[in-house]
Amino acid sequence: MENQGRVIAVNGPVVRASGMKHFGMREMVHTGDEGLVGEIIRMEGNEAVIQVYEETEGLRPGEPVTGTGEPLSISLGPGLLGSIFDGIGRPLGTLLGREGPFLGRGLQVDQIDLSKTWDLVPKVSEGDTLSPGMLLAVVQETPLFQHRILVPPGSSGELTFLAPPGPVTGGTEIARLRDEHGREQSLTMVHRWPVRTPRPSRRRLPLHSPLLTGQRVIDGLFPIAKGGVAAIPGGFGTGKTVTQHQLARWSDAEVVVYIGCGERGNEMTEVLEEFPRLEDPRSGRPLMERTVLIANTSNMPVAAREASIYTGITIAEYFRDMGCDVALMADSTSRWAEAIREVSGRLEEIPAEEGFPAYLPTRLAEFYERAGRVETLGGGQGSITVIGAVSPPGGDFTEPVTRHTKRFIRCFWALDKRLANARHFPAINWLESYSEYVPDLEDWFASEVDPRWRDRRDQASELLTEDDRIQQIIRLVGEDVLPDDQRLVALCARLVKDGYLQQSAFGPESYQSPTRSFAILDLILHFWEKADGMVKDGVPLSLIRKPPEVMGITRIRELGAEDESAIAELRERLDKALDTVAAERSAAGKGREGS
Ligand code: ADP
Repeated sequence: MENQGRVIAVNGPVVRASGMKHFGMREMVHTGDEGLVGEIIRMEGNEAVIQVYEETEGLRPGEPVTGTGEPLSISLGPGLLGSIFDGIGRPLGTLLGREGPFLGRGLQVDQIDLSKTWDLVPKVSEGDTLSPGMLLAVVQETPLFQHRILVPPGSSGELTFLAPPGPVTGGTEIARLRDEHGREQSLTMVHRWPVRTPRPSRRRLPLHSPLLTGQRVIDGLFPIAKGGVAAIPGGFGTGKTVTQHQLARWSDAEVVVYIGCGERGNEMTEVLEEFPRLEDPRSGRPLMERTVLIANTSNMPVAAREASIYTGITIAEYFRDMGCDVALMADSTSRWAEAIREVSGRLEEIPAEEGFPAYLPTRLAEFYERAGRVETLGGGQGSITVIGAVSPPGGDFTEPVTRHTKRFIRCFWALDKRLANARHFPAINWLESYSEYVPDLEDWFASEVDPRWRDRRDQASELLTEDDRIQQIIRLVGEDVLPDDQRLVALCARLVKDGYLQQSAFGPESYQSPTRSFAILDLILHFWEKADGMVKDGVPLSLIRKPPEVMGITRIRELGAEDESAIAELRERLDKALDTVAAERSAAGKGREGS
């Protein structure tokens, strides 16, 4: 029997329908004469409440509702990379071409172009016994990415048919499996997956290596693990988008999934224009060749924004299952939470804080918990690192979305309006930010970068904390009354801020290797130690800071060269200059003693 209900009421994206008792909770439906895509979010006897992902203007009571028999799902297979999807996984590229810049409604477009041909290279033989996650074949999806076609979760058995090497389309049968009951299942390169259900893996693995970002303040002070979760909170104009783009470009992930939840249309237009222009720094090819973009355009209703997060993380899990390290950026999760709030309001649910429903923390947890490093069903390893931007109104980090997000993330890169105003970029506040991954990652940094990595990092962070205290005194009484050892702390903290923490996204220092970053920090701390010894010996700070090499430390970061010779050379000159100061001072002292 064909499931069909009738619309009885329309309230923005929330539609009530009757005749729905044969439908399933969370079933995807087509609503009205135009077949608008929606999802059942509440069942009440014969009635259902549907969250519709498209503009419902013009939808009238009495129009039909038909079921699809599956929860909100997307297609996964070759053709994802380089694509731009809307929040429910419809390809914007295809729609833009067919419908002009504005999405038509109720469009039934294949999410993956099933007519496109790929060059299949089978990796198994007929007669093999296969289980979920095992490698069937590969296709070169883009010049940057070889797509591994795996046996999908839930399928297994003896391989009774395998397509020969050569061109196949996404819709072609490439394999047939016979299970133990003799039932045959036909496989194509593409399979469907319900976006709200996490894809299975064998087990979660501990995190031990960093997702290197090339950004000194992150890799050096607040590093994130591959498989970790971070939040970037910040008010308007503090650099959330630039930082997310930097992470997308430079982080050592094989695949990037970028979910744009811009509120105003132009924010998203920027992403849509800029992203395809970004270059993969390692190959010089377009970054889109290893990126999937999910864009919530301004003309899409809020409900689609709510779904976009799940669409994005499902795609990330699909690549993780191939054994990839995936980086997922969501900009911004506040817009997503606002979508949840709006739908909840229309459902007349009792609001908790600031109008958000009481289940906001649960939803945040469900999203962030899908990050992690796992042993895949096929026995490999893959990871998803999730980086969510948060845009707290007025930059207030105590508002509900930021506060609840903090419960589920372990890395917090707090963007600071004052730093942004002072053009200190990235405007990541070194006192408010933290990374709980440092203990998990210190062994990696010790063996790959320098055995003193942890010590140096902690020293830098103590220096900055001590400086904060000293700056408060300076604001009260001025610098002149401070003893030289405290003024030295202020000077060295300035060197750390200007010479290490600041890093322009545009120009030669856009990326810096952890080794080079470490060398810069080590140089500054070396200066601190040496100068501190001199201050203790009674050398005035005014003389210690005089050699041009001292402030020269702040310019070393702008030399984009990846070799460390410039740093080593500066260090040598600095040492020599300081030794000269000390020697002159001691000679002058001796002279005085003698007279
Ligand atoms: P938000 O997304 O938080 O509103 P943006 O990411 O658009 O803010 O950043 C605002 C501006 O700040 C950018 O246009 C740029 O001029 C500057 N900016 C942010 N981060 C950096 C950076 N790392 N290097 C240089 N400039 C930056």
